[in-house]
Amino acid sequence: MTDSTLAQRLEAVRERIGSAASKAGRDVRDIELIVVTKNHPASLALDLLDLGERNFGENKDQEASPKAKEVELVRPGLARWNFVGQLQSNKVRSVLEYASCIHSLDRDSLLKELVKQLAKDPDRRIQVFLELNLTDDPNRGGLDPKELSRFAEQVLAQPQIQLLGVMGVVGLGIEPAVDFERIAKASAELVAIEPSARYISAGMSGDYEEAIAFGATHLRIGTAITGNR
Ligand SMILES: *Cc1c(COP(=O)(O)O)cnc(C)c1O
Repeated sequence: MTDSTLAQRLEAVRERIGSAASKAGRDVRDIELIVVTKNHPASLALDLLDLGERNFGENKDQEASPKAKEVELVRPGLARWNFVGQLQSNKVRSVLEYASCIHSLDRDSLLKELVKQLAKDPDRRIQVFLELNLTDDPNRGGLDPKELSRFAEQVLAQPQIQLLGVMGVVGLGIEPAVDFERIAKASAELVAIEPSARYISAGMSGDYEEAIAFGATHLRIGTAITGNR
């Protein structure tokens, strides 16, 4: 990877997404690539905009907030920011200043704060995914899958929030298929409650092709495109 350029890595990932989609009998247009730009400067997102990417992901507000604002100043109205990391309630107000979508809504206290901040601007809408905790460790963040239906009902009752679906991060040292299967099962449970909440945010640099086979619609890909840093 030492000699590859950003454009080459992006093209390679796009090609692999295309082949994985056709292998799975899926339309590649149903699969959205989100380039995770964390640990990289705003200039990388600007380069990606030049290469036709619009969707970026970040996992820490203190890094994302200045970056998103810098990109907005240089190329207004183009980038869409996805907040994909664990979110503390005290960061919600800041995240709402730049994010179009939050992939990590996972608990009542966070929902409460989100609703409170959204109420300050009745025209503001936010898209969300409900993040599942696929581990046995309650400190890992994410919703206990057993709580999914109950929590989804709370979220669906909020007119300023558009529920897109479920999100999962595959556990380390686990066969990805096992977790993708669980994510797909949770997705089916959610769709039974709300058919429009059919999207699945899953798949990272190491496992996105397999995620596509299990129905992922929103891939969060970092290092395979951005390189290490
Ligand atoms: C960093 C990150 C990614 C991207 O990871 P890569 O392995 O670099 O592709 C995806 N999702 C979340 C939640 C992340 O924090």
